[in-house]
Amino acid sequence: METKDYLRILREEIHSTVIATVDGEGHPVTRAIDIMLTDENSLYFITAKGKAFYAQLMENPYVAISGMCGGEGTMNKKAISVRGKAVNIGSGKLKEVFEQNPYMAEIYPQEESRIALEVFQVAEGTGEFFDLSVKPIFRDTFVLGVSAEGEAGQMGKNGEKTRRNASGQQGGYFITDRCRGCRICCSKCPQKCIDMSAKPFVIQQEHCLHCGNCMEVCPFGAVERR
Ligand code: SF4
Ligand code: SF4
Repeated sequence: METKDYLRILREEIHSTVIATVDGEGHPVTRAIDIMLTDENSLYFITAKGKAFYAQLMENPYVAISGMCGGEGTMNKKAISVRGKAVNIGSGKLKEVFEQNPYMAEIYPQEESRIALEVFQVAEGTGEFFDLSVKPIFRDTFVLGVSAEGEAGQMGKNGEKTRRNASGQQGGYFITDRCRGCRICCSKCPQKCIDMSAKPFVIQQEHCLHCGNCMEVCPFGAVERR
């Protein structure tokens, strides 16, 4: 799936998320915020100028957003997390926010009561999708806006899909050429997601839990966290 597909899930299926900022003393603060709009590469939420949340965003625009959807119980859940920079675009798109989210008119019924509302756009950042409802688990990463390389996903050597954040860094565990094929890591992998068909073995990134067991037990130091 592409960034726009994950953003659509975030708005249409999850909608109410938890957004974290930092306060003036550098401490984390969270609150529930709805994702009002999304497009190909960004998401939008709103807040009122009088709120502490607004002041925190204007002081430090970096946010972390998480939400879950799916059936009952942890093993039926899908989760999406996004980290990025929230830019104040004023009242731009406010009309669209109310058109696409009619319940907002119950909270702010009159046009005049909406003067404090401003829209924030997260158009630069990274996201992660995590699906516990399938076996093995499935995970993927995506980029909001344009990454350092100009695209969201890159194919690394051995054919594995690598993960890159907005700084171009990869995330996850990778087996290097030091692998001798002893299979010790495979016996400790909870998702059995290490491909043993050729040396060096390859971690199937889309199924990896990031538990770190493989790196912990490898006697040859062949597993790296990047
Ligand atoms: S434990 Fe290390 S050397 Fe052995 S198969 Fe796994 S990665 Fe390769
Ligand atoms: S980090 Fe955990 S889940 Fe991922 S390959 Fe290593 S042992 Fe398996």
